[in-house]
Amino acid sequence: KEISPRENNVAKIKVVVRKRPLNKKEISRKEDDIVTVSDNALTVHEPKLKVDLTAYVEKHEFCFDAVLDEHVTNDKVYHVTIEPIIPILFQRTKATCFAYGQTGSGKTFTMQPLPLRAAQDLIRFLHQPVYRNQRFKLWLSYFEIYGGKLFDLLTDRKKLCMREDGRQQVCIVGLQEFEVLDVQIVKECIERGNAARSTGSTGANEESSRSHAILQLAIKKHPEIKESKRNNDGNESKGGKVVGKISFIDLAGSERGADTTDNDRQTRIEGAEINKSLLALKECIRALDNDQIHIPFRGSKLTEVLRDSFVGDSRTVMISCISPNAGSCEHTLNTLRYADRVK
Ligand code: ADP
Ligand code: MG
Repeated sequence: KEISPRENNVAKIKVVVRKRPLNKKEISRKEDDIVTVSDNALTVHEPKLKVDLTAYVEKHEFCFDAVLDEHVTNDKVYHVTIEPIIPILFQRTKATCFAYGQTGSGKTFTMQPLPLRAAQDLIRFLHQPVYRNQRFKLWLSYFEIYGGKLFDLLTDRKKLCMREDGRQQVCIVGLQEFEVLDVQIVKECIERGNAARSTGSTGANEESSRSHAILQLAIKKHPEIKESKRNNDGNESKGGKVVGKISFIDLAGSERGADTTDNDRQTRIEGAEINKSLLALKECIRALDNDQIHIPFRGSKLTEVLRDSFVGDSRTVMISCISPNAGSCEHTLNTLRYADRVK
């Protein structure tokens, strides 16, 4: 299937909600599914008690660009969110896709397959006659922001630092980039990066819920260089000029931003950092949506790193993940309110 690179009517900001199914534990506890979906709207049926302790349900209704219920496959998620953006990445567009939600709501489940599918489509594009002779290459990098600091997930969590050149281009010094020749490389990088993410002291989920993981696919146009002049270190990606870029961001658990009163000092500091970054992100997306000239990037490390993806011709997809069980009601409402503000 040839996809036309001319389709450019893709919405600047798209907010999608995905509801996961009840899990075994929730079913065994006989928890209610309190979220109903119909088309692009959803209703949360919040169980409440009156002062005399009689039970009642308060309904909260929301509407988004798309709402995906528990039966929707990852393929469909890709189709709705990323697929329309792929062709315009060859026209200087920078795209960013976020997964937002409480820990256990399905962020990683949702995000994980997307770069693989995107790489597959991008490679197919690069093989089309129009692009084949333009010296385009596809590069992958994968890093995380933990406690406001950057770590390379593909080189043993090497600490990285960010620099800006004079032209508002963000440069992450030392970030390793791998050339994507086939999807197998993407698979390997994702696996390696995920393993690096979970080597923290307190166990996999605990650690990864406190960091933002950022996987980037960049299309670069490379100048013609003679074989003899090529660097020996094998890393010629620096020589290329970024044509388009797509970032996949598995955000820290949104409930972690509330850990600002925890007894543990480290947890408190991390919670404050997460809170700050999620707030800054919301402000940046809102500013983008209003076509504001001043975008408040400086609010956090996360938004600073994404600065070059927000300026110029940008596309933002927010996938808000929610848990369906009654016990998660408060977190679910918080996630939906956040998504509603971004919309
Ligand atoms: P998070 O990254 O937000 O903490 P995960 O993606 O790890 O959450 O999901 C928590 C659990 O729920 C995982 O075991 C995952 O496989 C499962 N899960 C999440 N979303 C879905 C879904 N849409 N369908 C089936 N299982 C899901
Ligand atoms: Mg996760």
